[in-house]
Amino acid sequence: MKEFRHYEDVSTLVLDKELCVGCTLCTQVCPHHVFEMADRKAEIVDFNACMECGACVNNCPSGALSVNPGVG
Ligand code: SF4
Ligand code: SF4
Repeated sequence: MKEFRHYEDVSTLVLDKELCVGCTLCTQVCPHHVFEMADRKAEIVDFNACMECGACVNNCPSGALSVNPGVG
């Protein structure tokens, strides 16, 4: 029933929670509110909203995030 169905699950965004140090930067810089904090770790709460802008990756101090624009 969802519209724009064919745009779902195309992001290459990956979060490695083991590497996350809980700085919260990704929750602040993501323009689409893809992340929320839970137990001092970032959590992807809206995967399909990611448009692979790379802002979270560029700001993450621990390398916990990655994205490959153009692949998806
Ligand atoms: S790549 Fe951009 S849109 Fe996707 S989660 Fe990171 S900051 Fe948000
Ligand atoms: S920017 Fe990186 S280290 Fe900081 S909360 Fe997000 S995933 Fe964790």
